[in-house]
Amino acid sequence: MGGKEQQFVNEAFDENWIAPIGPNLNDFELDLKDYSGSKNCVALTSGTAAIHLALNILGVGKGDYVLVQSFTFCGSANPITYTGATPVYIDSERETWNMCPVALKNAFKDLKRKGELDRVKAILPVHLYGMPAKMDEIMAVSIEYGVPVIEDAAESLGATVNGKHTGTFGVMGVYSFNGNKIITTSGGGALIGQNEDDINLARKLSTQAREDAPHYQHEMIGYNYRLSNVSAGIGRGQMLVLNDRINQRRANFDRYIKFFTKLGLSSHIKFQEEGSSRFSNRWLTALYLDPSHFEENVCENLRLFLEALNIESRPLWKPMHMQPVFKNCPYYGGTVAEDLFNYGICLPSGSNLTDPDWERIESGIEEFFLK
Ligand SMILES: *Cc1c(COP(=O)(O)O)cnc(C)c1O
Repeated sequence: MGGKEQQFVNEAFDENWIAPIGPNLNDFELDLKDYSGSKNCVALTSGTAAIHLALNILGVGKGDYVLVQSFTFCGSANPITYTGATPVYIDSERETWNMCPVALKNAFKDLKRKGELDRVKAILPVHLYGMPAKMDEIMAVSIEYGVPVIEDAAESLGATVNGKHTGTFGVMGVYSFNGNKIITTSGGGALIGQNEDDINLARKLSTQAREDAPHYQHEMIGYNYRLSNVSAGIGRGQMLVLNDRINQRRANFDRYIKFFTKLGLSSHIKFQEEGSSRFSNRWLTALYLDPSHFEENVCENLRLFLEALNIESRPLWKPMHMQPVFKNCPYYGGTVAEDLFNYGICLPSGSNLTDPDWERIESGIEEFFLK
């Protein structure tokens, strides 16, 4: 927490707005609009809920396809199945580790050849670990085939391409404020969108789709997805420290890169690249250890070595097309996502790492590689 969160939460108690409606919600949405440059925003209970509503608004349903990045957290993909649609998984490229525009285009070409183009209702790229996907290329495919983009920006709040925020390229974008994200409301999310009507509909659907009548009148199926005014108070406080958090996360990344250079390993380690146009929030520092240089299972061995020192690290997201639950879903691409999963690792990346933490982490990593 940054410090001001409790004050906003207390306001909710003082004014008795303990409900999914109230001033903190309005102000949190204003903050998010201001920050991202989006004109329309609705605060919701989770990023998963935001994706579900976005798909609903695009009319995604039974028999439809959504082309989604395979290398991601299941929160990107699960809501596709809630609608009855089928996720079609797309491989990553090696620069940003996100949706490969070439594999995406190949998917369209193949589905067109099969006469299934009209089943494709949305494209869902992810800005993984805070790194923007190649949005110019992905938007070009979106325009070519007339299929809208929903951006999963759950991990990338504050990340930009040429100064434009992730989440604002597609017709809608999704943020998450789950406990592990760069800022948190304990649990929460938001949907932003280019069209006011879309976000107004999302707001209505998130509160059980109540019609304008004195009694409870329903003409659509709704959901209970609206964020609480109490949680939104936490969000308002967190927005005040978001830029500090991004600076801290980016400093973590820079420190790791310097450290691996010092160990003489930098030419064997790869990471998500910003290039000249991208700005990542570096939510987590994720590294790929070149399998031609290191021993087999180097990442798992490193993870276990650090775990024995009580230092947590993690494998990268296991691609969705490799998950048993999605084994029957189509997949387009090669082995980039699989390779990243096999040879990648997330290192400790909290915004609050102390000097003693860093000493422990660095001496642990050094011991592992120089042993
Ligand atoms: C966290 C996350 C989600 C889901 O957000 P929740 O708020 O946890 O529901 C979706 N996609 C990605 C990439 C995420 O990291």
